[in-house]
Amino acid sequence: MSNDQAPKDYRESLIHLEYQYTAGSATTTFLNQVKEGRLVGQACPKCQAVYVPPRGSCPRDGIATTIEVPLTDKGCIESFTVVHIPIPGNPIVPPYVCAMVRLDKANISFLHLIQGVEIDNIRIGMRIQAVWKPKEEWTHSLENIKWFAPIDEPDIDVSTLRFQAS
Ligand SMILES: [Zn+2]
Repeated sequence: MSNDQAPKDYRESLIHLEYQYTAGSATTTFLNQVKEGRLVGQACPKCQAVYVPPRGSCPRDGIATTIEVPLTDKGCIESFTVVHIPIPGNPIVPPYVCAMVRLDKANISFLHLIQGVEIDNIRIGMRIQAVWKPKEEWTHSLENIKWFAPIDEPDIDVSTLRFQAS
């Protein structure tokens, strides 16, 4: 008997899961600020690394990130990928680009969409800025930012973004 004829010992089925996300204090503070259209990181008092979104502690030093650091909504593309496979339930039609966005003055990046540019023109180091939803649609979510779009500024050499502990 070939593998094609072997009986399946599993069965595929759709399931529906409901869950409730409970944010910690650092994320709650961050999301309350995002609802007001502000992006505020937290810095480690020892190494000065700026985390956005903050998680409340510095993984390098194991201490609380107690210093708030207001950031702009500008940054650069640290890395990116072109998505060609549709995701069930996702209204975005492939191909589209997901990028690790590094905001200016931040030491970590987060995942977000890139739009407003031909995919072939997207590059690492490209300067970008958030495109926000209308204010009346803002919630406690980074989805308040529809996507990031290129701005007319020189690219960043991302190798210069490597963190140097102070
Ligand atoms: Zn630190």
